[in-house]
Amino acid sequence: MEQSAQAALLHFSSSGNPSSIHSFGRQAKVAVDQGREQLAAALGVQDPEELCFTGSATESINFALKGLYFHSQQAGQRFHLITSAVEHEATLETAHFLQTLGIELTILPVDRHGRLDLTQLQETLAQRKGEAVLVSLLAANNETGVVFPWQEAAALTKAAGAYFHLDGVQALGKLAGFSLGNAVDLASFSAHKIGGPKGVGVLYIRRGTKLLNLLHGGAQERKRRAGTLNVAGIAAFGAAAAALGQEKIAQTDRLRLLLEGEVRKIPGTQLQGEAAPRLANTSNFLFDGVRGEALVMGLDIEGFAVSSGSACNSGSILPSHVLLAMGLDKLAARSALRISLSSQNTEGEVRAFCAALERVVARIRSLS
Ligand code: PLP
Repeated sequence: MEQSAQAALLHFSSSGNPSSIHSFGRQAKVAVDQGREQLAAALGVQDPEELCFTGSATESINFALKGLYFHSQQAGQRFHLITSAVEHEATLETAHFLQTLGIELTILPVDRHGRLDLTQLQETLAQRKGEAVLVSLLAANNETGVVFPWQEAAALTKAAGAYFHLDGVQALGKLAGFSLGNAVDLASFSAHKIGGPKGVGVLYIRRGTKLLNLLHGGAQERKRRAGTLNVAGIAAFGAAAAALGQEKIAQTDRLRLLLEGEVRKIPGTQLQGEAAPRLANTSNFLFDGVRGEALVMGLDIEGFAVSSGSACNSGSILPSHVLLAMGLDKLAARSALRISLSSQNTEGEVRAFCAALERVVARIRSLS
């Protein structure tokens, strides 16, 4: 965890309840307000009150998709959700659940490099005029680091009179120049992806966006999400957001280029999403004839933590839905390794990792 985030987490771990009017409560409210302002600044959001804290980005995504769906039902409108085949499970599983309730779902494909075709989005939007339409897309993919043209997608969506939700989890702190500005209606983020603690998320809700609540109870978060706030988590989320910076992204990008150059020297490797714009910190390689899980275990013994697919999914041995959607067959998708870097990594660590990777790949190949 980022140092200032850890300090904030400890400092506020026995804080008061921000809804209480005694001094402990008021101190906690100050911490929450500060966290909200820090996050708004990092996201390029003018009004911090447009941020609603949640328990995870998964909750934020559920809130965005289901909240708009509930509203469309109340208004007696048909609901159409447009998303992509390479979204995080939080979006895809929610979309499939909503499908069981009768919504129409369009899943946009990607090409071999994980790129989204905006003309397909435009065509689908044109066919759906007059319906309640929500477009929900990633800013950048968590498995390949491929960046979507989300600003163009949001502009097309707005022109068609539809709502746009951005899954910005991977973009914040990893995509140079990332800023929400006024581009989207809804956007989800997660503290633990930017050096904050696990179990805190946020949903940006542009003023005027009509979505119904998922959680009912107290009047927290301007009556949008009931439940006592995670003060320490929010303060730490804000501290982590305040510690982000363009120089850190540039430093991570330099390390990634070094890493990718070294890994390519290993025979039988293939970088995924190579022709697409990608995040500063994520590389996804295929290794001919090697199972991703075997690589993960071999590298674990060497002291390195990497993932064979999406980290959120690494308990399962199913091939990645992202790589399958990019046109890989199951065998190739099972040979994937996702490597994530942070600006705190050093050049020495990257070189040591690449040397260990080369050893592990050679060892596994020699056994088969
Ligand atoms: N969306 C993306 C792109 C992610 O990478 C993740 C988590 O890795 C999520 C959503 C879910 O975030 P959380 O773990 O906060 O629920």
